[in-house]
Amino acid sequence: MKKVVKFGGSSLASAEQFKKVGAIIKADESRVYVVPSAPGKRFSGDTKVTDMLLHMYATASEGKDIDEEIKAIKARYDEIITGLELKDFSLDKDFEEIANLMKTEPSKDFAASRGEYLNGKIMAKYLGVEFIDAAEVIFFNDEGKLNDYKTEKVLSERLAQCERAVVPGFYGLGKDGKVKTFSRGGSDVTGSIVAQAGRVDVYENWTDVSGFLVSDPRIVDNPKPIKYITYRELRELSYMGASVLHEDAIFPVRRCGIPINIRNTNRPEDPGTWIVESTAQKQDYVVTGIAGKKDFCTIFISKAMMNSEIGFGRKVLQAFEENDISFEHMPSGIDTMTIVVHADEFLHKEQSVVSAIHRLAAPDSIEIEAGLALVAVVGRGMKSASGTAGKLFSALANEGINIKMIDQGSSELNIIIGVKNDDFEKSIRAIYATFIKD
Ligand code: ASP
Repeated sequence: MKKVVKFGGSSLASAEQFKKVGAIIKADESRVYVVPSAPGKRFSGDTKVTDMLLHMYATASEGKDIDEEIKAIKARYDEIITGLELKDFSLDKDFEEIANLMKTEPSKDFAASRGEYLNGKIMAKYLGVEFIDAAEVIFFNDEGKLNDYKTEKVLSERLAQCERAVVPGFYGLGKDGKVKTFSRGGSDVTGSIVAQAGRVDVYENWTDVSGFLVSDPRIVDNPKPIKYITYRELRELSYMGASVLHEDAIFPVRRCGIPINIRNTNRPEDPGTWIVESTAQKQDYVVTGIAGKKDFCTIFISKAMMNSEIGFGRKVLQAFEENDISFEHMPSGIDTMTIVVHADEFLHKEQSVVSAIHRLAAPDSIEIEAGLALVAVVGRGMKSASGTAGKLFSALANEGINIKMIDQGSSELNIIIGVKNDDFEKSIRAIYATFIKD
């Protein structure tokens, strides 16, 4: 059994956190590959090292002095090095190099990547294992996307040679031979790539929450944790804003059937959430998760005999495509169709969309409404349970909530309902109380 363990920024924000991480790794022999993030926030209001580095880069690129900023960043690492009592180890040389490069040839990605690079060096020293610079084993292509073929080849050969290793998260080597980072939160992606190339059995992703919760704790009091969630359910929920993991982290492990276990560094005894391809584990509830987002707009289009006009839908959608707007949902009637879009993508282009629909599809009328919230009720269990929709609608009716839209895919994995923005929180609480019982 082999595992990759990825630790997020808050798990490595201080020497004290590092010690917890060390204990976690040592508690299980199979935790062989470690992917660290940069030191994150130690308390609310603190600044992540990645943000300090990005600020330093901005200062350097304006030609201003960065000595004070370098000092503050170095202090974050020195606290960790001293707290861990690492003998014969210092990052002085690395900081000199960073400072020189920032003064001569400042690069944003290089600056941002140093957070993980330096933390990785400390981690390797602390654990007494090999340090593998991600720029030697993770590669991007011309388009700036992961070159998975080359990465898989080089990284798997390298990992096969070492029993244990630390690979810093968040960056690799660009096609131009310079360091390049993933988007923010990208250490999750590195963890997934290392899991795939290292042929491991489990990808443990350690953070500061005990996995996914059935609903948002800012809306529902003390929501239950999710024990098992499938990749498809996760996709539905993260689309609706429930995010713990970087979106691109799923693909590499999903492809080779490696489960992800989300764990809490501050509560290592909690089992966390398992993200799996498929599972026969008994579910506590029919519903796996409830998530949602506010601020959608609806564009309601009607035209007599629409149902028999071939190509009408395509013409309407073309109006959105021309304006570079992606639509989220499209419930339709016989002579009507409704397009649901994100308000922030749509509002500043609304008149241009309306005129394009008139030009392309010649409808009888178009009505626009703002202030719609969408709530997604997701669960693989809904397929085999009858009455889920009935219970859901009664839950909302009992609270006097008017449902403005309903969308259920034939996969029966989710039901999406549209309600007024003002009813959003109340709807989620009502649905939670109906489906999730103690
Ligand atoms: N340190 C990077 C960030 O703050 C990457 C990561 O933590 O995953 O986004």
